[in-house]
Amino acid sequence: AAQHGTFDLPALATWKPSDPVPFAFLATTFEAIAEESKRLVITNLLINAFRAIIATTPADLLPVVYLCTNQVAPPHEGLELGIGDSTLIKALAGATGRKEALVKKEYEETGDLGTVACNSRATQRTMFKPAPLTVASVFKTFREIAKAEGKASQEKKKQLIIKLLVSAGQNEAGYIMRALQGKLRIRLAEQTVLVALAHAVLLQRKGHDDKDGSLANQLESAAQVVKRVYSECPSHDEMVPALLKYELEEVPQHVHFRAGVPVKPMLAKPTNGVSEVLDKFQDCEFTCEYKYDGERAQVHVMEGGKVAIYSRNSENNTSKYPDIAAIVAKAKQAGVKSVVLDCEAVAFDRATGKILPFQVLSTRARKDVKVDEIKVQVCLFAFDCLYLNGEVLLQKPLTERRTALYSALNETHGELHFATAKTSRELEELQTFLDESVAAGTEGLIVKTMDSTYEPSRRSTHWLKLKKDYLDGCGDSFDVVVIGAWFGKGKRTGVFGSYLLAVHQLDDEEEDEYQTISKIGTGFSEEQLKSLAISLKEHQIDGPLDNYRYGETLIPDVWFDAKTVWEVKAADLSISPVHRAAQGLVDPSKGISIRFPRLVRVREDKKPEQATSAEQVAEMYQRQALAQHGSKREMADE
Ligand code: ATP
Repeated sequence: AAQHGTFDLPALATWKPSDPVPFAFLATTFEAIAEESKRLVITNLLINAFRAIIATTPADLLPVVYLCTNQVAPPHEGLELGIGDSTLIKALAGATGRKEALVKKEYEETGDLGTVACNSRATQRTMFKPAPLTVASVFKTFREIAKAEGKASQEKKKQLIIKLLVSAGQNEAGYIMRALQGKLRIRLAEQTVLVALAHAVLLQRKGHDDKDGSLANQLESAAQVVKRVYSECPSHDEMVPALLKYELEEVPQHVHFRAGVPVKPMLAKPTNGVSEVLDKFQDCEFTCEYKYDGERAQVHVMEGGKVAIYSRNSENNTSKYPDIAAIVAKAKQAGVKSVVLDCEAVAFDRATGKILPFQVLSTRARKDVKVDEIKVQVCLFAFDCLYLNGEVLLQKPLTERRTALYSALNETHGELHFATAKTSRELEELQTFLDESVAAGTEGLIVKTMDSTYEPSRRSTHWLKLKKDYLDGCGDSFDVVVIGAWFGKGKRTGVFGSYLLAVHQLDDEEEDEYQTISKIGTGFSEEQLKSLAISLKEHQIDGPLDNYRYGETLIPDVWFDAKTVWEVKAADLSISPVHRAAQGLVDPSKGISIRFPRLVRVREDKKPEQATSAEQVAEMYQRQALAQHGSKREMADE
């Protein structure tokens, strides 16, 4: 087993320095990783592979990092492989001369197209021995596949895949198929790749010399640098070459947040009420802002005036909101050359000056919107400024970021406003402000400490959400993943009558796990049941996935792949012998369930990994228990 950064170049690198890295090397590394379960050993296998590449052919480190993370481009470029199983099955049949039906049957039996590809290869005959694949050539083809557009794109993708498969040897075909499917199955979390990258770069430069006993600390700080750089500039295109070029501590000067590359947004934690906020923030200055209910928009104005708008998931929403681009261009103050704003785009009735509910916004088209065809107008509510005229503001306190925000834009009525804010410590005043926020058509308040920095992708304790609903329900709503369903009876024959819902959790190996939290069967309209049945059918699978945790007494009629996220509200949380959410976190053997859930909306902007986590459920349960305890005590006091 690989020890802490053990490195044996001759054994690892079988190619000549500066020659292209063979894809077989990466496939063998993946295979070794797949057989391991210990995180430390997995990280070391990866460190050694990266070191071998840095030592011989550093230019190939970038494609290798992309292949390890199963990406073809930085997330904000929105380039995805987008290949359905049927194209992959056709390509595999085409490359091996096997019948499609046979490939399909074997896929159903093994559940892994990679294994089918490996088995199929043995039967394949080629006239000429094709040149071996390299990591660079595989990555280049993956990008071509991702970029193929238009009518003939499926056929083009298929031909490119066939070309890869015909040249693939040994274990390579398996990993090509798995990568194309977006499921490498090697338990490599993004954070592990970042840590391995940092360690490989450091060890390759400094070696294992640990005379002064500081190596462990140096490795730890290298990992921190790389994680921070990637969280501020999530683009391997920019980070990997810089890691090779500069000393590690210098990398943040060269690769940092800038207009054009979105950061993952900072998130807030739920609270129960104004008193909890006052309690939590008793020692710090804080501000309350209206919590608008629309779509998060990170607006980037680049030097030269180009505007780009990114969603909560860093998807490029620019073609959905040409109106926002125009509004921001107009509202920009003189002297502002580049700026990044954190905002909420909200449906707005300009005639009455009223905020409209989220449901109205969700009727807008998602792509290629023409300004003169827009029926649902939006107003942009800006609440943060992350970058101004070349200066990164992420590490600055909110006080300064807000000043920057106010200095960068002019409010334009009904089009762009700063989030309504209030600073007060008076319980009654805050309560009134909360009521006003709801009356104004928002969801409540977000309370922020004034000295907090902007923490990308963190659900921070410096931002607390105070939703009106919390005060009577069990707190926040839940974002749950639909993993199964039961057939409807009576009036609901032909559609699903109820659904099985799960929350997300990373297991000890940082793998996704889905734990059931409830069954939902009420609150749907007939229309909704019909459309949900249609949209969910495409995710139907033969049985539960290995990472589903559910009770044996609650088996649905059909199972779904974990793809669809719904927001649901519930009456309260209770300990459950049947459901598995947060099992072991509150009760050693029982899970937690939500009672009387009802569907609020389908969350198309959320991925299953972004659903409510088991830890959040446990936190909510504990908060609910505290609140109940408090109210019982109050009743007893009376
Ligand atoms: P989360 O984004 O926390 O996972 P969610 O998407 O369900 O959860 P909520 O919990 O309802 O959203 O609230 C957080 C969201 O509120 C932010 O992502 C942002 O889009 C929106 N928001 C509205 N007004 C503000 C504001 N003033 N400051 C920060 N966020 C705001």
